[in-house]
Amino acid sequence: MDELNLPKDDNQDLEPKFIPELQPDDLWDEEQDTEIDTNSEWIAQAEAEGHKAGFVNIIGQPNVGKSTLMNALVGERMSIITNKPQTTRHRIIGILSDDNYQVVFSDTPGYIEEPHYKMQERMNNFVDTSFQDGDLLLLVIDSTEPFEQYSPALLEKLQKNNTPVFLLLNKADLRTPEQLEDLKAKWMNFYEFDKVFFISALHKQNTEALLNDIIAEMPAHPAFYPKDQFTDRPERFFVSEIIREKILELYHQEIPYSCEVMVHTFKEDEEKNLVRIYAYILASRQSQKHILIGKGGKAIKQLGIASREGIEAFLEKKVFLELIVKIRENWRDDEISLRNFGYDE
Ligand code: GDP
Ligand code: MG
Repeated sequence: MDELNLPKDDNQDLEPKFIPELQPDDLWDEEQDTEIDTNSEWIAQAEAEGHKAGFVNIIGQPNVGKSTLMNALVGERMSIITNKPQTTRHRIIGILSDDNYQVVFSDTPGYIEEPHYKMQERMNNFVDTSFQDGDLLLLVIDSTEPFEQYSPALLEKLQKNNTPVFLLLNKADLRTPEQLEDLKAKWMNFYEFDKVFFISALHKQNTEALLNDIIAEMPAHPAFYPKDQFTDRPERFFVSEIIREKILELYHQEIPYSCEVMVHTFKEDEEKNLVRIYAYILASRQSQKHILIGKGGKAIKQLGIASREGIEAFLEKKVFLELIVKIRENWRDDEISLRNFGYDE
């Protein structure tokens, strides 16, 4: 997808892409016998051009509106990934670019006070690293919640932090100005925030002003990602998320939780100007496979139509979608036969 310019490789990491390939000779200036700091040359250039770029971490407890804020700042397409609870286990990035800036936002999972599972510990680790690796922290709080209920562990971390922090009193649409001022005073008493905003992420109130101040806070730096890229997730990820979402809408009981979606082929047909997608739905039992397919194939057909429409809306392209239901044990065998049919990339 050239228009979207999403990374093609599922295992692609978040390495910044602006660093040029360097030869050892480039790094060494024999004349002065010192190492040239190539990175600062790049920064100097960005400074001269007035270009800013940086990383912004959005933190806060669950349900305060972090994902809603990210959608408001980066754009509605972001919601396809941020709206799902299963994806908020991970750190999700959203990229906002213009001619002279690029802001890379991370939506972190909510902080869990007493982690009970390994996964929850990992979620907390994401939050911990966001105190260290960004240019700016946005602490989002739900202004309908009293100050007293805030996680002491999170607050303690905040006090040790030394990147700039903006405090965002979200859901301001549900509070009076007096209530907001009162809450702000309590928070300011506790920590010297660089700036405080009353916002409504849902209604995009005051988010424009917030964005201007975020950009102002970014250091002079070249862009980290291509300017037309809005997230770091690959295309296949979106496609399987959309299909999963439709399964959740169309089937009941344990079906959505017991099957897996695997995008087997994602191929651009430039001649016909469409994208061909073959995806497996992996069921764990024969009975589930029957339900997924439905009487005379009715259910799977409905799922196919709904999924295709969702994917087309997302990719802004025509899509040919084929869904293949398999029992988990033997799906690999079928993959071989699929290859033989020429369905491989
Ligand atoms: P997260 O868990 O921090 O990512 O929170 P979400 O972004 O998922 O939002 C949690 C709930 O709060 C959702 O139902 C949102 O619609 C709602 N919400 C978020 N921002 C606002 C806001 O500014 N005003 C109101 N009234 N509701 C909001
Ligand atoms: Mg969220």
